[in-house]
Amino acid sequence: MKSFNYKTATSTKEAIKLFSGRSAFLAGGMTLLPAIKLRLAAYSDLINIKKIKGLSGIRASSKSLKIGSAITHAAVASSKEVIKSIPSLALLADGIGDPQVRNRGTIGGSIANNDPAADYPAACLALNATIHTNKRKIPADKFFKGMFETDLKKGELIEAIEFEVPEKSSYTKFPNPASRYAIVGVYIAKLKKEIRVAVTGVESCVFRCKKIEKALTDNFSESSIDNINISSNGFNSDIHASAEYRAHIIKVMAKKAVSTC
Ligand SMILES: Cc1cc2nc3c(=O)[nH]c(=O)nc-3n(C[C@H](O)[C@H](O)[C@H](O)COP(=O)(O)OP(=O)(O)OC[C@H]3O[C@@H](n4cnc5c(N)ncnc54)[C@H](O)[C@@H]3O)c2cc1C
Repeated sequence: MKSFNYKTATSTKEAIKLFSGRSAFLAGGMTLLPAIKLRLAAYSDLINIKKIKGLSGIRASSKSLKIGSAITHAAVASSKEVIKSIPSLALLADGIGDPQVRNRGTIGGSIANNDPAADYPAACLALNATIHTNKRKIPADKFFKGMFETDLKKGELIEAIEFEVPEKSSYTKFPNPASRYAIVGVYIAKLKKEIRVAVTGVESCVFRCKKIEKALTDNFSESSIDNINISSNGFNSDIHASAEYRAHIIKVMAKKAVSTC
C-alpha cells in the first residue's frame, strides 16, 4: 500500500479546504481502502469525513426522507424514521454485504462509488432522489453516469440524499451468495405522480426499466409483467449469470417486488 497523508475534517468547509488535486474523501473505506491496497488507486491525502456532524442526520417529513451521506447502512436499516417512512429502504440497507460492511459503509460512499451491482443507486432512481452536494442539488436521473462514474466533480462532497416518500415500494434482489451484491436487483416505487422501476446488477450502470414502468402504470399487478419482452442486449454476462438469465431474473424480481409492495 502506498503511503498517504490522513486528515480528519470536522465540517464540510474544512473537508473542501483540505482537498487538493490528489485527495479522496474517506467515508467507510469499504471500497476506497481495498482499491488503494490493490494499487488500483493512489492518493496523496485521505480526508476522513465521518466526523462531520452535518453529514449524519436523518430527517423525515410527509413528502421526503433526507439521509446524511455519512450514515452507515446499519443505521439506515435500524432507523425508526426510515422504517416508518420508506420501509423498503431500511430492508435494502439491511441486505447489504455483511454486518462489518453495514457498520462501516455509508450511503454517500455507496452512491459516490456507483458500483454497477450496488443497491442504493436503484433506490435513488426509483425513489426519485435528489443528491445534495456542497455545491448543488442533482436529480438521481442525472447523477449515475456509467460504470463507477457519477456527475460529481473533483472535490465535490455529497452532503445528503433526499428520497421522495412513495405511496408504496419494494426492493428485491437476487444476491451474489458471497458478497450480497446484486446479480439482479429491482426497486419498484409507486410515487404520487408516477411509477418508477430501477434495475441494478444488470448493465454497467443502474437504469430505469421503462417497459415495466409502463406496464405497471397501466395495471399495477404481477400479471402485467408476464408479457413484457426484456432483451438481454448489452446485459452483463459473467460466471454468476448469463445476460439471458439476468433478463429472465429481472421479471422474476419485478413480480416479487410488486407482490411485496
Ligand atoms: C465484502 C463487501 C460486500 C459488499 N456488499 C455490498 C452489497 O451487497 N450491496 C451494496 O450496495 N454494496 C456492497 N458493498 C459496498 C459497501 O456497502 C459500501 O457502500 C461501499 O463500499 C462504499 O461505501 P464507503 O462508505 O465504504 O465509501 P468509501 O470506500 O470510503 O468511499 C468510496 C468512494 O466514494 C467517495 N466518497 C465517499 N463518501 C463521499 C461523499 N460523501 N461525497 C463524495 N464522495 C464520497 C470516496 O472518495 C471513494 O471514492 C460491499 C462491500 C464489501 C467490501
